[in-house]
Amino acid sequence: MTLRATIVRPDARIVVQFSCGAASAVAGKLALAQYGATHDVQFLNAFLASEDADNRRFLADCEIWTGRQFTVLRDEKYGADVQNVFLRERYLKGPHGAPCSKLLKRRLLDAWKKPGDVMVLGYTAEEADRLEDFRERNPDRPVIAPLIERGLGKEDCKAIILRAGIVLPYMYRAGYSNANCPGCPKGGEAYWRAVRVDFPEVFEARCQVQDELGPGSWFLRYRSGPRKGERFPLRELPYGPIRRNESLPSCSFFCEMAEADIIHKEPTA
Ligand code: SF4
Repeated sequence: MTLRATIVRPDARIVVQFSCGAASAVAGKLALAQYGATHDVQFLNAFLASEDADNRRFLADCEIWTGRQFTVLRDEKYGADVQNVFLRERYLKGPHGAPCSKLLKRRLLDAWKKPGDVMVLGYTAEEADRLEDFRERNPDRPVIAPLIERGLGKEDCKAIILRAGIVLPYMYRAGYSNANCPGCPKGGEAYWRAVRVDFPEVFEARCQVQDELGPGSWFLRYRSGPRKGERFPLRELPYGPIRRNESLPSCSFFCEMAEADIIHKEPTA
């Protein structure tokens, strides 16, 4: 696949959205190496009370690694807590994704960004098609993807972090594929079985949200048997395979930006 290049204007800010994951850390480090001497490179992160606490340690280690102080934005309306978002917005996952990343991340970015900012995407080599989709849907939004430009995959990023002497965030060490909040509604059945085992208090909290909100908040479906296709609550999650490294999308400002643009461009019925 031939990738289109982004023209970076000399006065553009280069904005790295740091999600506390290995890919965004390496993408930011590469962007800094390429543009640090010529451009204003900013690292941006949204604090989430619902993420594993070790994400903050990883951020601090990456500040030392890059020699930059990261800007950390924090939602006030929901206490930066996904559980509050689910209860107040009255859903956990809709046709266009989870409400938490939009309300706890995207909204903060919208208030912070300036026209002309060039966003650094942490898409990996495995995600080149996502980059092209993003560019097609957002022709006016300049983005660069240093990992794709260099052919770096997810495992390469983890190896680079380890070689830099930085301990990966706890969620990776626990076997998950990114540093998302435990109990992320983007995950599927096998992921939720892992959450039930590893984070029983989070699993119970999400069950309690569904107890309160009722069937409209159920997002998993039976995949076989007489009730195939029907939704069911987390409390009725059948026992079966457990998969921690299910490749659910890592949570960033950007996936929600893409989702928002998809929503915006969907034809109305
Ligand atoms: S990681 Fe999942 S639960 Fe956490 S903010 Fe993102 S979408 Fe929501």
